[in-house]
Amino acid sequence: MDTTALPLFPDPNGDPAPAAAAAEPTAQPGAAPAPARPRVPRSKAAAKAEQPTPQPDAEVVIIGAGLAGLNCARELTLAGRSCLILEAADAPGGRVRTDIVDGFRLDRGFQVLLTEYPEAKRVLDYDKLALRTFLPGALVRQGGSFHRFADPFRELRKGIAFATDPIVSFGDKLRVAKLRRSCLAADDASLFSAPEETTREFLRRSGFTSAIVERFFEPFFGGVFLERNLVTSARFFRYLFRLFSLGYAAVPELGMEEIPRQLAAALPADSIRLNSAVRSLEKIDLGWKIETTSGISLTAGQLVMAAREPEAKALLAGVRTPGPAPARNWNRTTTFYYATTTSPIDEPVIVLNGEGRSAGPINHLAVMSLVSPAYAPPGAHLVCVNVVGSAPENDTGMEALEVEVRNQLRRWFGPSANSWQVVGGYPIAHALPLQLSMAPHRPAQSDTGILLCGDYQTTASIQGALTSGTAAASFLTGPQS
Ligand SMILES: Cc1cc2nc3c(=O)[nH]c(=O)nc-3n(C[C@H](O)[C@H](O)[C@H](O)COP(=O)(O)OP(=O)(O)OC[C@H]3O[C@@H](n4cnc5c(N)ncnc54)[C@H](O)[C@@H]3O)c2cc1C
Repeated sequence: MDTTALPLFPDPNGDPAPAAAAAEPTAQPGAAPAPARPRVPRSKAAAKAEQPTPQPDAEVVIIGAGLAGLNCARELTLAGRSCLILEAADAPGGRVRTDIVDGFRLDRGFQVLLTEYPEAKRVLDYDKLALRTFLPGALVRQGGSFHRFADPFRELRKGIAFATDPIVSFGDKLRVAKLRRSCLAADDASLFSAPEETTREFLRRSGFTSAIVERFFEPFFGGVFLERNLVTSARFFRYLFRLFSLGYAAVPELGMEEIPRQLAAALPADSIRLNSAVRSLEKIDLGWKIETTSGISLTAGQLVMAAREPEAKALLAGVRTPGPAPARNWNRTTTFYYATTTSPIDEPVIVLNGEGRSAGPINHLAVMSLVSPAYAPPGAHLVCVNVVGSAPENDTGMEALEVEVRNQLRRWFGPSANSWQVVGGYPIAHALPLQLSMAPHRPAQSDTGILLCGDYQTTASIQGALTSGTAAASFLTGPQS
């Protein structure tokens, strides 16, 4: 072997390496003596070229282990890319978490998975989640009693109960059937290209009477959008109406947190660092330098911002960018959980306040233990009561709101509601980004080169969060990256 062609040992200063001689290969017995290597002075550039290229600590760092960040990590992993998630909280899930209190499973705010969300269907294993579905339709409190408003999302001829129920006029029922047909016929492209207008304007323009708006659309979709004024984009309304018509509202048997747990379980071990809130970002030659409040300092080749928009904007402000999107309002909600031995209703159905806001703060409620018995310990029921538009900032505000809620429960279900025990209360100020418009998707890359993902980038939903995670991962694995 001609060893004269061997490179010299790397020398950052271009000087002969003092250790080089000692590192010469020793002559083997019987072998010809190795010729002396020429010790020629090298240029700095040549020496630099010989150094191993410095690598960042992590190929991709994702800030936030909500559904968007988790799904981005999942997609990157599937594509053979390595990534690390830094998460501020003590568990993955973001806004989809479930607390276990005295054997009750309390989702942090009432929420449901629509089984027809296309991205959820693609990404999640529904069988393993053991989904439990709500009955379609609703039980509507109106005129001092409850009315079963049978499934407005299915065909009229299949819903005899819907056709005959007394709380909406026959004309409105025909308009619902027409709406359903048009939503089912529309593809995404035509939904997204329809003129932007609010849901309320759309309903008025479609001829719906104020009775059905107040008794059904406002509490039902107010509960979905988490705003009762129905100023949310009609595009989003029609998109969701289609999904409600095609599938069901569901929760995993063991609570909503099973969704992020399933996504996290698909990642390699040590992919997520919990209790690691990112506090600063700095652009460096290698990519990004990231520091957390827990003292971690690391570098990343590429950065995905999957925090909620307010936290994302605060971090991005530090790297001189106008921010991910114009400031927007977030919808507020509060959920109270009550334990009772007797369920106030006998079906796994959503109960709506169809009497307007003047009737009290409750917008909708459900007995979660009727949907999935695992939400309550044996012999008990769990009632989940929701207020839309309000999230008190302190205990005094929560106590005052609970008194109002309890008064309304007493009017609805009689004095037995007095004995219900509060098991938890969740005021959520940043529950959902107000969705005044809906575009197919927003580009994932910001002007800083940081990839942005999260529900605020797409639609305010589980579907939106998952889709935005996929979009960010595709950008990183695609030809443009
Ligand atoms: C009460 C409520 C009801 C809802 N109802 C429904 C429903 O019925 N159906 C539906 O489809 N959707 C519903 N949603 C919406 C859905 O939950 C969200 O759209 C989705 O979970 C958003 O996921 P995300 O990953 O975009 O954001 P998030 O879940 O907010 O995740 C962001 C993550 O970033 C982390 N983070 C923030 N700052 C930092 C930092 N500096 N460093 C590290 N980590 C950070 C956070 O801790 C969090 O884990 C509801 C939401 C709420 C709150």
